[in-house]
Amino acid sequence: MHNDQFDKTILAMKKYAQEQHVPIMEDEGISFLTSLLVEQKPESILEIGAAIGFSALKMVRALPEVRLDTIERDDVRFEKAVEFIRDSGYQERIRIFQADALEMDVSLLENGYDAIFIDAAKGQYERFFEKYEVLLNSGGVIYCDNMHMHGMAAVPLSEIPKRKRTMIRNLSKFRDRMLDHADYESKLLQIGDGIMVCKKREK
Ligand code: SAH
Ligand code: MG
Repeated sequence: MHNDQFDKTILAMKKYAQEQHVPIMEDEGISFLTSLLVEQKPESILEIGAAIGFSALKMVRALPEVRLDTIERDDVRFEKAVEFIRDSGYQERIRIFQADALEMDVSLLENGYDAIFIDAAKGQYERFFEKYEVLLNSGGVIYCDNMHMHGMAAVPLSEIPKRKRTMIRNLSKFRDRMLDHADYESKLLQIGDGIMVCKKREK
């Protein structure tokens, strides 16, 4: 179903992302993420940071029953996402919201999600986590992209441009917090730009 339309849309998205410097997930990261999701079998996913809708479409395509909500604050990217999602033929299972996820009214969303994918501003992961983890069902999983911070996480802080240091400090702090969190079983996978998988323990 929708094969040609879908493949054409994905190609157009990759081209657009490259030309406009939109940081969509690389092939290795997205195929690994979708394989983890296929194993998990979530019925619903919340994504924070849609950009142009690339990862959202890949997830919905990999999971034939899933419903996905995604949030993007940038108006140009949001408009492109709406357009690409429509072109792909998968618009029925995706809702996209234009909002700053840190300010968004969560009552617009579902009460519970089986998976949350965090892929928005890297210095704010802890704040996204705090705001959205209440929406994660027991036994649900939080996935976080770019835990290697586009490779910068491995470089000594003194060699990182000053304006990026806070972001990297925040991200490392969040990583350590999740790896230690009593309510989550977390793993940092050396895949793509670093994907962290945090499974909420069943209560
Ligand atoms: N998940 C996408 C890539 C997302 S790039 C993919 O792989 O296809 C990160 C996106 O998060 C950017 O488009 C940026 O505009 C958005 N973003 C950053 N901070 C945000 C916030 N507070 N609320 C909503 N979107 C945000
Ligand atoms: Mg990313």
